[in-house]
Amino acid sequence: MSGMTAITPTKPEFSGTGTIVNPATGAVAGEVQWTDPADVPNIAAGLRAAQREWELRGAKGRAKAMARFALWLNDHHEEIEDLLIKETGKSAVDAAREVPMLIMILAYYTKTMEKALAPERRPAALPFLAIKKVTVHYRPRPVVGIIAPWNYPVANALMDAIGALAAGCAVLLKPSERTPLTAEVLRRGWRESGAPDVLALAQGAREVSEAVIDNADFVQFTGSSATGAKVAERAARRLTPVSLELGGKDPMIVCEDADIDLAAHAAVWGAMFNAGQTCVSVERVYVHESVYDQFVEAVVRDVKALQVGAGEGFTFGALIDEAQRAVTERHIADAKAKGARVLTGGQRPDGPGSFYPPTVLVDVDHSMACMTEETFGPTLPIMKVRSVQEAIRLANDSPYGLSASVFSGDVGRAKEIALQLDCGAVNINDVISNLMCLSAPMGGWKTSGIGARFGGADGLRKYCRVETVVAPRTNIGAGGNYYHNSLKALARMNRLMTRMALRGPRRLAK
Ligand code: NAD
Repeated sequence: MSGMTAITPTKPEFSGTGTIVNPATGAVAGEVQWTDPADVPNIAAGLRAAQREWELRGAKGRAKAMARFALWLNDHHEEIEDLLIKETGKSAVDAAREVPMLIMILAYYTKTMEKALAPERRPAALPFLAIKKVTVHYRPRPVVGIIAPWNYPVANALMDAIGALAAGCAVLLKPSERTPLTAEVLRRGWRESGAPDVLALAQGAREVSEAVIDNADFVQFTGSSATGAKVAERAARRLTPVSLELGGKDPMIVCEDADIDLAAHAAVWGAMFNAGQTCVSVERVYVHESVYDQFVEAVVRDVKALQVGAGEGFTFGALIDEAQRAVTERHIADAKAKGARVLTGGQRPDGPGSFYPPTVLVDVDHSMACMTEETFGPTLPIMKVRSVQEAIRLANDSPYGLSASVFSGDVGRAKEIALQLDCGAVNINDVISNLMCLSAPMGGWKTSGIGARFGGADGLRKYCRVETVVAPRTNIGAGGNYYHNSLKALARMNRLMTRMALRGPRRLAK
């Protein structure tokens, strides 16, 4: 912890025991004990104490514990998925993706972490320091605070925690107050798999988040851009570094030479997966006028084939709550009022649960919120464009820059388009797949984030502080730089070193 003044937590909105309701049925999904923000400093202190031993185990020792946790997750995936469906109203198809993703991330990092975290030998660079041996060590930041959203309560809770734990940090996880239950099971699994107490939970909303920020040495935040700005502001009070994974308005560009069926399948899956509640979902599509009708027809066909309902036998689940449904409705109403047409969906269904049908909108433009604000719901607005240049301009006309996709029969051309888009990742003839390229960074530009997750070794090193150790190769010449040298000897050494240093600039300046 830094030596800066502690910040007193504010009074919590969530206290005592809370009841979590299944958004698909209104039935009780489970109960949670909210954390008192005043207890967070103690929880962090416990983690801080346990972290030393975790760090000292070394990457190999930690990888073993993490491997056991991966096996535990596999053994308990049905229990986790059942609870996930109750907690979020997801379809079984959507719920089934989260545990495997965590297992794959664990497998990747347990395999690569030793090399990624190994000390690095560096040349001393300056000739007069040739007698030195320089190593850079990656030392974990003791307590990493992770503040998570609700859309993937399993994957979002742990996909960043895995990197932090691998790096040797302890993790204080604050799940979303909308989905606290699955995190409790994950925490139980960490303990039951025999791992030490370097993973703790703080359950609650803003006040608990703030206490986590105030007691962490690094904050990994995933959530909306508006909240991300508040997190950065709070963390700045103690100069705590942050990594922010924020909202998006991801565009898809469909060129005239694209495989239209493939593009339509991808658009529908990319927009409707998890009922549209995915940061990297396809939020808007720009289609070349020559293939527009064909594309729209294929999209509507695919959307109509989705089976709406939570759990087993369904492909498209409920929205997390009424607030999320209200945003979707507002965007659709605004679009209709400004001249858009609804081709399918667009009507709140009768009956229980916060369901909203997958909705395709056409005749849309950038005067409409559905094309400019993050919907985070099941809408697929499609805009006709006259040229790819127009599509690029419109795709970049956004405060967000998370990711994008380009569909073209010519991959070389699609790459050229990709490098004109202002965002953190572009998928060609596919959507969302960059998220699983663990060796590459996943991060947003503009208001979509600061920093990135994953990215191979960088995904672990971001949770570390670097410590440089400079040791002597030999004691001959030691102290040659100190006061006891004569001025003459110093001047001789300076002349020699400067002459050597200027060789390169002399060559270059010719
Ligand atoms: P949110 O910003 O409302 O909440 C996220 C977390 O922040 C929650 O745990 C919440 O309790 C906490 N929080 C709320 N107010 C806070 C405050 N003032 N200070 C500190 N913490 C506070 O986001 P959400 O509705 O849970 O999630 C949806 C958003 O997350 C969308 O914008 C989505 O795009 C984004 N998201 C981004 C990624 C990514 O990787 N870029 C991934 C998933 C979701």
